[in-house]
Formats: sequence, structure tokens, C-alpha cells
Amino acid sequence: MSAKLIKGTEIREKILEEITKEVAEIKEKHGVVPGLVTILVGENPASISYVTLKIKTAHRVGFTEIQDTQSEDISEPDLLALIDKYNNDDSINGILVQLPLPKHIDEKKVLNAIDPDKDVDGFHPVNVGRLMIGGNEVKFPPCTPAGIQEMIVRAGVETSGAEVVVVGRSNIVGKPIANMMLQKGPGANSTVTIVHTRTKDLAGHCKRADILIVAAGVPGLVKPEWIKPGSCVIDVGVNRIGMNEKTGKAILRGDVDFDAAKEIAGSITPVPGGVGPMTITMLMRNTLKSLKFKLGA
Ligand code: NAD
Repeated sequence: MSAKLIKGTEIREKILEEITKEVAEIKEKHGVVPGLVTILVGENPASISYVTLKIKTAHRVGFTEIQDTQSEDISEPDLLALIDKYNNDDSINGILVQLPLPKHIDEKKVLNAIDPDKDVDGFHPVNVGRLMIGGNEVKFPPCTPAGIQEMIVRAGVETSGAEVVVVGRSNIVGKPIANMMLQKGPGANSTVTIVHTRTKDLAGHCKRADILIVAAGVPGLVKPEWIKPGSCVIDVGVNRIGMNEKTGKAILRGDVDFDAAKEIAGSITPVPGGVGPMTITMLMRNTLKSLKFKLGA
């Protein structure tokens, strides 16, 4: 039997429509729309393409978008002053600094300079703390984990009491999604295990998972025999395994052996087209939330 495919591309469309509708309602009632600034330093081609997609999506949902491109040799004090300017700009609800930054700039210092109430990426220590506390304290859940949780919920997968196993303990995916799934509340209430490179019995833990979330960055790490029949498998991994000579595009694979896994799992995300499209979508949602917090809406 083939698993139900959880398609990020389809869920993205629904959420972006919901956001667009809400932006129009807020505009009518309050006369404002969410404002997002994307700060890009230098000309890293991957960063340019991510930022371009973010701008396009922001325009699509009706936000005001400022693209602030700075030269590679901007000094750290000048970049910090720029962030301060947007921190104090009332029309801006979300500030996004595209990473990586040039080597002469301390990334941590820059990210920590963003007003936590405009930190729509959710990486500021204040927002990490808010996420840890959970409940109403949470303002901006980090975008990829928020997208993962949204996919699980929209796929109708029961999370309460479920055994969730997260492969990977990074600050941007593994740790936050594990923290979110164990919180008290809808789409959570799970029993969570995090496994990583030092875990003794990776396969044994994965085999117990009702919901298996894999964010290791190792193509095909999770073998089909590690998957509990009928479980939900979320493959966060995006690995370039070669180049399609005809299209010139990278061939992408996840961390799970998809073709075999889909015959065992109850539901599964594909790569590409699974978790990937959710990240920018949740960035838009966080920016809208930021304006709503400000308006008390
Ligand atoms: P990372 O390298 O920071 O962390 C990987 C984690 O996996 C580490 O904690 C490590 O301990 C664990 N790990 C690595 N190899 C392992 C192994 N053999 N056994 C057990 N654990 C192992 O990576 P990250 O930033 O969390 O990203 C993980 C993957 O998710 C990457 O492929 C990345 O491209 C992808 N990703 C996708 C999105 C998206 O789709 N929007 C967003 C972020 C990351």
C-alpha cells in the first residue's frame, strides 16, 4: 500500500490564500498591511535566489516589501545601525537578514540586534526562550519547524500521546521542532525523543516512531526497515546528489529512502515539494502575526 503524500506545495497554496484574505481584511479595517524588510549583504547567488522568492511571496500576499541590498564590504557598525533604523520604523513588522553574512561580520551580534518583536525568523534568544516556555508566550516559531508542525496537523495526523522521534539536533530544525511537539496544546502533546550522531541505537528509536521527523542532511540515512508501518514520516533533508544534465538543475534527495518508505509509512513528505515550500510560507505568517500583535487584532 502506498502512503498518503503530504504535499508542501499544496498546503502552501492554501495557507498563502488564508494570509492574503486576512491581509485584505486588516487593510480594510485598520488601513495598514504587514511590512517586511529583507536585508541582503553581498551577491551570494543562493542568497539572491532565496531573497527573490521571499520578495515574490510577500508581494503575492499583499505585504509591503523593502529589499535592502548592501555591498559585501559594509562594516559591522553600519549594518547594526541599519537594523536599528528598521527596529524603529513603525511601518516594518518583520526584519529578515539573509544568511550567511561576510566573514568580517559577527552573525550572532547582527541577529541579536533585531528587535525580538520583529524577529520573524524566530532565531533571537528571546524568541527561543518564548518557544521553550510555550503556550501564549510563543510569538514567532522558527519557520521550518512551524511548517513541519502545520503539515502534520493538516494531514490529520494525531499528535497527542504520539511517539515522535526527531533525527537531528540543530538549532534551526531538530531542537525547536522537538520542543514544539512536546508542548501542551493542539498539534503537540507528544512524547518526544531526539536522536543524533552519538545515539547508540538509531534504528531502534526510529522504529518506535508514530511520527518520524528527519533533519540530518544525510541522503537515504533512514532505511525502510526503520519505519513503523502506518507512521507519518516528515523528511526535512535536502541533499544535492548530482546534476540533471538536460535541465541543468540539481537532483535533490531527502534523508529517507522515499521509494521504499512510501510503501510502509501511512503518510510521507516528498523531496522536493514537501517541507521545502513551507518555510517561506511560515515567514509570511509570522510577519502577519507581528502586525496583528501590534494592532492587538
Ligand atoms: P545540521 O547539519 O545543522 O544538523 C544536522 C543534525 O543531524 C545534527 O544535529 C547531527 O547530529 C544529526 N546527524 C547528522 N548525521 C547523522 C547521522 N548519521 N545519524 C544521526 N544523526 C545525524 O542541519 P540542519 O540545518 O538541521 O538541516 C538538516 C537538513 O534539513 C539538511 O539537509 C538541510 O538542507 C535541510 N533543511 C531543509 C529546510 C527546508 O526544507 N526548508 C530547512 C532547513 C534545513
